[in-house]
Amino acid sequence: MTRIVIAGGGLGGLTCARVLQVHGVEAVVCERDAGPGARVQGGTLDLTVDEGQWALQEAGLAAGYRAIARPEGQDMVLYDASGTLLRREITPDTGDARWSRPEADRPALRKLLLDALAAGTVHWGHAVTRAERSADGRYRVHLDGGETLDCDFLVGADGARSRVRPLLTPAEPVPTGVNSVELVIHDADRAHPAASALVGRGSFSALGQQRVLSAQRNGDGTIRVHLALRGAEDWVETSGIPFGAPDRARVALKELFAGWAPEFVALLDATSGPVTPMRLAALPVGIRWDHQPGVTLIGDAAHLMSPFAGQGANLAMRDGAELALVLARGGEVREFEEVMLERAAASARMSAENLELFLSDGAAEAVRDLFASFAGEAVVGDDRR
Ligand SMILES: Cc1cc2nc3c(=O)[nH]c(=O)nc-3n(C[C@H](O)[C@H](O)[C@H](O)COP(=O)(O)OP(=O)(O)OC[C@H]3O[C@@H](n4cnc5c(N)ncnc54)[C@H](O)[C@@H]3O)c2cc1C
Repeated sequence: MTRIVIAGGGLGGLTCARVLQVHGVEAVVCERDAGPGARVQGGTLDLTVDEGQWALQEAGLAAGYRAIARPEGQDMVLYDASGTLLRREITPDTGDARWSRPEADRPALRKLLLDALAAGTVHWGHAVTRAERSADGRYRVHLDGGETLDCDFLVGADGARSRVRPLLTPAEPVPTGVNSVELVIHDADRAHPAASALVGRGSFSALGQQRVLSAQRNGDGTIRVHLALRGAEDWVETSGIPFGAPDRARVALKELFAGWAPEFVALLDATSGPVTPMRLAALPVGIRWDHQPGVTLIGDAAHLMSPFAGQGANLAMRDGAELALVLARGGEVREFEEVMLERAAASARMSAENLELFLSDGAAEAVRDLFASFAGEAVVGDDRR
């Protein structure tokens, strides 16, 4: 029997393993994390009908998904920095539109997939250090600690810093020139009613001065606040913001939003706990490689992009499910790669354009117009005031 090893148990790798198992094909997932709760998975994701939701359908998990999804999480408000409301979208209470891009918490999604896998599928604490092609055409995976695993087919689903990618391409992620900072408001409804009301059931964004201040409700009572700021690759070290001392970091970050509507800056006061900076990097738009038998990449390992198109997890899941179907049916992985990379290129282009748009001068009005142009295909009412 063909032995399949999947490096990385994120949403892409787990979806791939689950769809393989639905079709009676076993796979082993080597995951670096020590266990399912080893790392805060954070955040909420909206799954699209044709990508994330399609993949869960193929995984036999459509009903499980509906049980954890929050359609009302599609509500959004968009403001400029001074506090002028530019757009409000409200999710209808009934109808198919509720299910066009419902939100679900990433930990709940990951749990849905993990619970569906056969026991022992995920080998926790198994970090891949490198992989190589053996003389017999199989692949050997080297694990941290010295152990090796041989396989007939190797899937690189190990994210941005993939250890499998060098088998196919020398491409590496490059900084986008934008950095993100995440902060969390805990127990929002009870402890921070003003912040809770501002964010509503879904998401809040304010744009201006080449900066983004956004906040999104999660299903666990938290609101995650994200800042996006232009800055060089070493911004985290050179900005002077003491990220290791969260309370001082919050004060320094507030200074970057001086002059913004006070109720927006107050969102930062409502946060507690760590202040987590993230350098946003991306692989080249339109990345390709020469097909090699017995190995491929999916998700961020294949086509990392900035989060400004909101597509990365959706693509990773679609890639994982599609690849599983190809492997289970003895199809052509080369053709799978063609389709995957073309689909990813379109999203990566959109992501790069959106990044520039959201951090441009006059971003708020431009983004309002962008959202309005989607309104036909989206869901939702426009209750502009
Ligand atoms: C701030 C932010 C917001 C985002 N919002 C959205 C959104 O709204 N919608 C959306 O669709 N996407 C969003 N994304 C993108 C999305 O998070 C990613 O595209 C998605 O998680 C990619 O899934 P993946 O399975 O390919 O990789 P990952 O989620 O990165 O999973 C890779 C897995 O591999 C493991 N791993 C890594 N290295 C190794 C190794 N050497 N050996 C073994 N295991 C390893 C990791 O521990 C991890 O579990 C966002 C990203 C960011 C940063």
